[in-house]
Amino acid sequence: MPQTATQPPLEIAVFPMLSDNYGFLIHDPASAKTAAIDPAEAAPVLAACAAHGWQLTHILNTHHHGDHVGGNLDLKAKTGCAIVGPAYDRARIPGIDVAVDEASGADFGSRHAEVFFVPGHTRGHIAYYFARDKALFCGDTLFALGCGRLFEGTPAQMWSSLLKLRALPDDTRVYCAHEYTQSNARFALSAEPENAALAAQAEEVARLRAAGQFTIPSTLAVEKACNPFLRADQPDLRRRFGGAGMTDADVLGAIRAAKDRF
Ligand code: ZN
Ligand code: FE
Repeated sequence: MPQTATQPPLEIAVFPMLSDNYGFLIHDPASAKTAAIDPAEAAPVLAACAAHGWQLTHILNTHHHGDHVGGNLDLKAKTGCAIVGPAYDRARIPGIDVAVDEASGADFGSRHAEVFFVPGHTRGHIAYYFARDKALFCGDTLFALGCGRLFEGTPAQMWSSLLKLRALPDDTRVYCAHEYTQSNARFALSAEPENAALAAQAEEVARLRAAGQFTIPSTLAVEKACNPFLRADQPDLRRRFGGAGMTDADVLGAIRAAKDRF
């Protein structure tokens, strides 16, 4: 079905899973299809579907880690949903039916998501971007005020992945897979203490968490202004973490290493 201006927007539900993961449901009213993004486990996904009266038809996986695919096989057995995941890592995605990459994108109901290949956290990590709905599902690549650990990739890979996401519009909503924002804010403030926008955002995050509220989604406007991992090419961060002859990717690597020790 072609996308039209009169299409109703995607409905997006956010709910917690495990200790600090987020589950997301996206529902396309035009086709009555519903996808779970990165289901760590089946039960909270099914409960969220029931609460909204939605039937699960798809799973979209960003990468192979257990806290992102743990619910795949159980949900497929219970609902018959189709599992979409990164072609590069198809062998590590349980139950995968549709392997996608940047060239294919990902079809979901009346929508077509752009797929970004964003290795760094893992070698095959992808992100899903619904342009008309201004929604980015970026797994463990970009976090609110942070980025994923470099388990399988290099700083250069992660930097080029982050630049792809940074190129999206400011009003993009960033649905990342973990509630790490408050601890990320503490590190970000140590990395860039002169950043007034970051100081204000850290206060907002503290207020939300004290009220028991989610900090997700963030927006790319906030992340571009406040997230040190998206700002490795900014002078203050280069001065603090860089050295002679270091590339922006090297600075990103130094910031990530400092966060690992923080
Ligand atoms: Zn992960
Ligand atoms: Fe994770």
